[in-house]
Amino acid sequence: MQVEPKQPTVKAAAETFIGDAWYDVLVRGEEPSRIRVSVVRFAPGARNSWHSHAVGQTVHVTEGVGLIQSRGGQAIEIHPGDTVRTPAGEWHWHGAAPDRFMTHLAMWEASAEGMEATWGEQVTDPEYIGAANEASR
Ligand code: MN
Repeated sequence: MQVEPKQPTVKAAAETFIGDAWYDVLVRGEEPSRIRVSVVRFAPGARNSWHSHAVGQTVHVTEGVGLIQSRGGQAIEIHPGDTVRTPAGEWHWHGAAPDRFMTHLAMWEASAEGMEATWGEQVTDPEYIGAANEASR
């Protein structure tokens, strides 16, 4: 076994996130493993753009209050202890609530071809506020 060296915390790219989000890469599997695990910390109001994962993704909330929404579906408010699975190819976004920080573990895999995610348009402010106001739970 080995204790993994701590990698620097990285600011999420403005191309795929609105607001401030930072992540720490915990696991980047070496073939044949293609697992990826990161801790992602979102500031209030921060969220990623619409995207889908080639092999799906599981997020597990560890702190704060967040939102996650699939294309065509109602947003869901997520809390510490919640685990949400998004199947391969399902378009969605996730982020913090407008007035709360949110931290989640993000766990996904690369496909055999090395594909991880496909990124689309930003979640605009009206879209985000509407989702927050209508979120279930
Ligand atoms: Mn995702």
